[in-house]
Amino acid sequence: EHLGPLQSGLVTGRFGKHADVEASDGTVWRCHIRRTIDSVVCGDKVQFRPGQDSSDVISGVIELVEDRHSVLKRPDYYDGEKPVAANIDQIIIVSAVLPTLSTNIIDRYLVAAEDVGIPPLILLNKVELLDDAQRQAVEQQLTVYRDIGYPLLYTSCKSGEGLDTLKQTLIDKVSVFVGQSGVGKSSLVNQLLPKANEAIGALSDTSGLGQHTTTAAKLLHFPDGGDLIDSPGVREFALWHLPTERVTWGFREFRDYLGGCKFRDCKHQDDPGCLLRSAVEDGHISPERFASYHKILQTMQDQRPTRHIPL
Ligand code: GDP
Repeated sequence: EHLGPLQSGLVTGRFGKHADVEASDGTVWRCHIRRTIDSVVCGDKVQFRPGQDSSDVISGVIELVEDRHSVLKRPDYYDGEKPVAANIDQIIIVSAVLPTLSTNIIDRYLVAAEDVGIPPLILLNKVELLDDAQRQAVEQQLTVYRDIGYPLLYTSCKSGEGLDTLKQTLIDKVSVFVGQSGVGKSSLVNQLLPKANEAIGALSDTSGLGQHTTTAAKLLHFPDGGDLIDSPGVREFALWHLPTERVTWGFREFRDYLGGCKFRDCKHQDDPGCLLRSAVEDGHISPERFASYHKILQTMQDQRPTRHIPL
């Protein structure tokens, strides 16, 4: 082995048994992973030894993975949970305003983001399809999210609205885009980083088995600053089955009212002495969010036997 000295790097690609590591000078090294290391995912900060040259040959070695400040995980049939990306600073929840705007789906992603402790940004795409009256109605419907402290951004890949603001919010952060299929994630990534989808598409194609599509991920640098971690698996990040208390915790504006209900096992439904329900009646909590909370718990109950069904 002709390995260079130990140095710090950032994992920018993860395929099969190896990973791409970017050194501080920007060179990328294809590395093996020491068998003692549990997992290496995109966004990981590592200590590695570069190999002979930074070409396609797998010649470097990752020796150590630094502590992660955040991790996105997905359920795994064998391991329970499997990390898919690390050190993410921001989850961009992408929804389209048409054909239907589902605040319940936004709420599900918000709970999932709160559960992993990564700040979310709610992005509403395709806004050029709305006339003035519809636009006003949508903005009205969504003010509740601003009120409880979530940033909201309206964008259109067609008119370009909001894209400069989006670029600003990406600077100095590692972001992921999540959301249902068809809302415009690829289109947005294309506007921000024309080469990204090509790279991600190519990764998905390398395995005819569809197996690598869920594990292969890439970290890419936005030209104006900030990074994107993207893969089909990351985009699918969603609210898997969670225990009820974690769903409740995921509704951040509920937290002030928890623990004060008359009964310890209060379901926050029609229970007497429920502080949460009083807060709804007193106008401190949005009735729509409260209903959405119960809807999420309901669908989770329905899904309980099959842990692996996404949204
Ligand atoms: P993804 O599945 O979330 O990656 O969504 P895509 O980026 O593939 O977009 C799905 C469809 O929505 C495509 O036909 C896009 O051209 C279209 N689309 C994306 N953004 C916009 C937008 O801002 N306005 C309109 N009208 N269509 C859009």
